[in-house]
Amino acid sequence: LSVEISSIYKKNDRTRKVHNVVILPDFAAADELNRRLGAIGNLKSDGRPILGLDSKDLLEICLEVRDDVLFIPAHIWTPHFAVLGSSSGFDSLEECFEELLPHIPAVETGLSSDPPMNRRLSALDRFAVVSNSDAHSPRKLAREATCFDSELSYPGILSALRERDPERFTGTIEFYPEEGKYHYDGHRKCGVCWQPKQTLAAAGLCPECGRKLTVGVRHRVEKLADRPEGAEEESERRPGFEYLIPLAEVISSSVGVGPTSKKVQTIYHTLLADLGPELDVLRTVTPDEIAGCGQPIVAEGVRRMRAGQVHIEPGFDGEFGKIQVFSKEELSQ
Ligand SMILES: [Zn+2]
Ligand SMILES: [Zn+2]
Repeated sequence: LSVEISSIYKKNDRTRKVHNVVILPDFAAADELNRRLGAIGNLKSDGRPILGLDSKDLLEICLEVRDDVLFIPAHIWTPHFAVLGSSSGFDSLEECFEELLPHIPAVETGLSSDPPMNRRLSALDRFAVVSNSDAHSPRKLAREATCFDSELSYPGILSALRERDPERFTGTIEFYPEEGKYHYDGHRKCGVCWQPKQTLAAAGLCPECGRKLTVGVRHRVEKLADRPEGAEEESERRPGFEYLIPLAEVISSSVGVGPTSKKVQTIYHTLLADLGPELDVLRTVTPDEIAGCGQPIVAEGVRRMRAGQVHIEPGFDGEFGKIQVFSKEELSQ
């Protein structure tokens, strides 16, 4: 049983806005947490309740409800609502959670970062790095996911994460981070999308409107990292990961019309009916089988996605990145 909670509060003289995921093993525990938090704020106005509660106090309450609570700081790098975010986060998890930090087993990458980016901070070495998808839009469920080969029970999953055992916590399914909507810096309204070094050269100001640019995840990682790009922590406890693109987007890019169009949706549902669930089609079904459903171009698209042969215009300031598995020239042929 899981929920995401938005905490908006002041700490050390700055306004902080942090999302955290809370996972509990049973309804009795969830009832008790609802009772405790319901005395603090309104839980019924939003699927993701907004509380004026310090993240550390939230963790403390959760631990009082169940000491085996699975508490995960959400999408830790996004600018506006994350523990390490550039706009209203902290410079370290310690600053946010203080002496309670050891009770947190995992952190969530969010769409705009991937495990290698997170590994550039040695301070994150002791956490399992997980990926989840929220439930705002059912179509997008499992666009990111965490894979387990453990006992599929609450204690089984909790201990796999706590021990970061690669036999049981086997890895994550990731968006290409460039596709996330806060990968680069920029201003959406002004049409400015910059790499971190361009932002630094302009002292963080937008060349169009002169206001501060939204600093994206790549820049924020660069700022807090203590390892160079490409550096890997030497550890046997690192699970694997793979990049996926939602199937409707692969089809969209293969046929040249939007992912919600009738044409794409028809192909999408035909593939699911013939070949099985979306994650199987993206990960394990052979391109020949996809081609055998009358979709040779989609088959090639899936092959390219698996090989990382994709072109991405990075996302920025709330604008999703744009991903293509075929170039415009190829599509017009
Ligand atoms: Zn969130
Ligand atoms: Zn601007």
